[in-house]
Amino acid sequence: MDVVLAQPRGFCAGVVRAIEIVERALALHGPPVYVLHEIVHNRHVVEDLRRRGAVFAEDLTAVPPGAAIVFSAHGVPRATYEAARRRELRVVDATCPLVAKVHGQAQRYSRSGATVIVVGHAGHEEVRGTLGSIDGPVLLVSSVEDVAALPPLEGELAYVTQTTLSVDDTRDVIAALRGRFPQIVGPDVDDICYATQNRQAAVHALSERVDALIVVGARNSSNSNRLRELAAQRGVPAWLVDDASQIEPAWFEGISVVGLTAGASAPERLVQGVIERLREFGTLRVREMRGIAENVSFGLPEEALRALASRNARERRSA
Ligand code: SF4
Repeated sequence: MDVVLAQPRGFCAGVVRAIEIVERALALHGPPVYVLHEIVHNRHVVEDLRRRGAVFAEDLTAVPPGAAIVFSAHGVPRATYEAARRRELRVVDATCPLVAKVHGQAQRYSRSGATVIVVGHAGHEEVRGTLGSIDGPVLLVSSVEDVAALPPLEGELAYVTQTTLSVDDTRDVIAALRGRFPQIVGPDVDDICYATQNRQAAVHALSERVDALIVVGARNSSNSNRLRELAAQRGVPAWLVDDASQIEPAWFEGISVVGLTAGASAPERLVQGVIERLREFGTLRVREMRGIAENVSFGLPEEALRALASRNARERRSA
């Protein structure tokens, strides 16, 4: 069997930054460092950090007052920052800068008097954070059908989108919004992030040349689900797996070329694990497609990390 690796695949700059923030916080502060929600949607990453002293909490009430806490890459509602302040928590914010940009844009629209429509999936953490960053009227739509079901809306209207949607779905939903509400405004460049776009473009190209596709990623990872759906929509059987243990030999009967990619929060070692598992089925030729080379990186919240270190040093001195 031939295996064609997608390029690019796996970790994006926001995920690399979020993991590095937890690692730096652990090094500067020492365990435990609390993390609100999964730092990124991948249980392997979460388990690894847990072993090193990170404590994952779903709610701030589970975090002792004064503790160090990292907010996940998906962003949090404004109320969460306020609750953390009230509990005197030492916050290091790992919200991806591209998500923070969407929050800023949504807040500007709202302050200018617009009703904001968020295009995204209900219940996803990023969407909860974006909805909760807007003080004024806000609505959520996920599909063209949702747009048709909106009540008549007068006055100024604006939209923002979740960063990890499918480029195609967003295009259709935005077209439906523009069709129903000609006055609606949106960002100059859409909010789908570079990593989502590049990974989807790679799957588009791969779908032309493979018989099946494996996506390594978590069930609750929005961008990983979109990659699987994209291939399926193009008639390519596609499976989303957490890791090699979920690979079924029966999937590959009659398949000679299989594509392999990974969502933005899946570590490369899991991709390599899948290759090793596929080797158990017979001879494998592995190659990588030519694709977009990414060189994006985001800086760390140095000030918050420094504050963590200096307060920790003060506490050690006075102990
Ligand atoms: Fe940021 Fe995009 Fe990665 Fe999400 S997928 S963390 S928006 S770079």
